[in-house]
Amino acid sequence: MYDYLIVGAGLYGATFAYEAKKRGKKCLIIDRREHLGGNIYCENIEGINVHKYGAHIFHTDNKEIWDYVNQFTKFNRYTNSPIANYYGEIYNLPFNMNTFNKLWGVFTPEEAKARIEEQRRAAGIEKPQNLEEQAISLVGTDIYEKLIKGYTEKQWGRSARELPAFIIKRLPVRFTYDNNYFNDKYQGIPEGGYNKIINKMLEGIDVELNVDYFKNRSELESKARKIIFTGMIDEFYGYKFGKLEYRSLEFKNELMEKENYQGVAVMNYTDRETPYTRIIEHKHFEFGKQDKTVITKEYPAEWSPGKEPYYPVNNDKNNLIYRKYKELAEKEDKIIFGGRLADYKYYDMHQVIGSALACVKKEFK
Ligand code: UDP
Repeated sequence: MYDYLIVGAGLYGATFAYEAKKRGKKCLIIDRREHLGGNIYCENIEGINVHKYGAHIFHTDNKEIWDYVNQFTKFNRYTNSPIANYYGEIYNLPFNMNTFNKLWGVFTPEEAKARIEEQRRAAGIEKPQNLEEQAISLVGTDIYEKLIKGYTEKQWGRSARELPAFIIKRLPVRFTYDNNYFNDKYQGIPEGGYNKIINKMLEGIDVELNVDYFKNRSELESKARKIIFTGMIDEFYGYKFGKLEYRSLEFKNELMEKENYQGVAVMNYTDRETPYTRIIEHKHFEFGKQDKTVITKEYPAEWSPGKEPYYPVNNDKNNLIYRKYKELAEKEDKIIFGGRLADYKYYDMHQVIGSALACVKKEFK
């Protein structure tokens, strides 16, 4: 008999398992994929750690969480500075003085602020109600049209007017010449890839891969006193309140016989026509010197059964449905829900760890 059956071997499940084991609890962690790590899993191709389920860049402002991940492996000094490519015009991200200078020729923060204010006023936006209005009020219509609208509508498959404002607030807007994509104090990529972290966390813990919880539900549930569930909460409840929407992605990898393809780890294609949103060149996350390079084109798609759900679509309609599932979840005494899918939240890795550690604290108080 296990103390915990953990459904999903991603960052949430692995953090919980590690902490539970430390406290003498017996855990079984299962995953329907053939490998550990969920979406932070890296596949080694030609000596390059390929982020198989999309680029993952660790960043946090919280020293405890930074120290926590650093106990499992060393992190490098990678700083994310993606490039936006708009029909071949190159701009720095996030939106900062380099972007404003390239776009408008302005070179002081006052001039940049005045441009943005002028464009915000012309658009007549006082209180932004959706992503489009939020974006225009932060950076003006020129940047919205060239660097946000196309990317966002490809990424989410919806008009920017139907999307929540918080999504665009993930990106800093800065009136300094600083291309760091994150404001957080700590940032980096685990040296040797993310698998090192997960493998360390799950050392000595029973693992079963290629196991689908939903296909073996009663048998699996009988093995443990409690369940940690990190999958889709609507699937858990048989979609009884309706289906939640997710965005999915398709990744197309190319191995190239050249040392350096695009000179940066992340290049965003912000026009509407290019079918992919970004190209990732993985070696740059670890300053790789290999002769070859691996790039990944990221094609967004609506989620449907059989695809991987990556992003919750947190608009009002879905949040309302989610709240009903959450009410049920809160009444469970043998099941704990956590992670991006079960909480239906656009978490970053540091938030997943933070929320798993909060759960651990409550569970073992
Ligand atoms: N975004 C954009 N243009 C860009 C990059 C991001 O409009 O060049 C918007 C887009 O709506 C995206 C959101 O900002 O979904 C959040 O971007 P982030 O890079 O945080 O997304 P993630 O890496 O989580 O996919």
